[in-house]
Amino acid sequence: MNTGKTKNLGVMGWPIAHSLSPAMQQAAIEKAGIDYSYIALPVEPEKLTQAVEGLKALNFSGWNVTIPHKRAIMPLLDEIDEDAAVIGAVNTVMNDGGRLKGYNTDVLGFLYPLQEKGIKIEGAHALILGAGGAARAVLWGLLRSKVQSVTLAVRSPEKGKALAAEFSSRTKAELSVCAFGSVQYQEALAKADILVNTTPLGMTPKVESAPPVEWKLVRPEAFVYDIIYTPAETRFLREARERGCAIQNGEAMLAGQGAAALKLWTGIEPEVACMCDAIRNELLK
Ligand code: NAP
Repeated sequence: MNTGKTKNLGVMGWPIAHSLSPAMQQAAIEKAGIDYSYIALPVEPEKLTQAVEGLKALNFSGWNVTIPHKRAIMPLLDEIDEDAAVIGAVNTVMNDGGRLKGYNTDVLGFLYPLQEKGIKIEGAHALILGAGGAARAVLWGLLRSKVQSVTLAVRSPEKGKALAAEFSSRTKAELSVCAFGSVQYQEALAKADILVNTTPLGMTPKVESAPPVEWKLVRPEAFVYDIIYTPAETRFLREARERGCAIQNGEAMLAGQGAAALKLWTGIEPEVACMCDAIRNELLK
């Protein structure tokens, strides 16, 4: 029960009805037995400033931020953590007595299953498919972990080049961009130790689509990661598995970013497995 002592958390977005965060966070809160409550906060874009002031007035301990507020909220905060500043988006706000600090826990979420599975990133060659919003956290996570090279494969090289140019001053890693289907793309597929899909290709309901990968070029030793979490196994992952590659879907990234946020707010080490279960249960409803 939410009593006068309960500390409040939530997720703001518009629309917010389909967010998996309330189920996932509430599961972790109950598992940890802490007196917190996490709710969905529908916030229309033009009411963002009022909503932030309102949550401050209500003494919320913190909240997650999702589409369309991840960039728009940044000027309303007192401080921005390094990951969020580099990525250019905030997904977690911490309220320290009225002083608001913005974080981006997508980087930790992306890295979580790689660390759990002992995948060596330092010195590895990575290939990222897509260069949109989520690719920024994936790219920064790999660069921060001292990857040796990253190739961004995209359908529109201008967007990929803009992203690479933005990050090039922050890394010693080789950073290159190629178009799907090009010779450079085929070379990057053959060289990849870590291959990550950040495009929405293969996501429910279009489950038969997939990014263009010639699997015979990919080494069976490569680790293949799709950040999509519905379906649980995309066509991309199925084909990687059939090639003999170890695979990872996006559930652990989603749970990992949520766990990192909950840890920031409460100081506890949340149980990520129960957060993954809650996500899967929600998706099966
Ligand atoms: P986004 O900003 O729209 O970026 C999508 C990227 O995919 C862009 O580079 C886009 O290329 C490319 N793309 C889209 N359709 C394509 C196609 N038909 N052929 C080739 N490239 C295509 O989206 P996002 O926010 O990064 O999200 C991408 C996916 O990641 C979604 O499926 C989302 O659910 C998932 N995601 C998962 C997590 C997690 O925690 N697991 C977190 C965030 C996102 P253009 O720029 O040329 O359009």
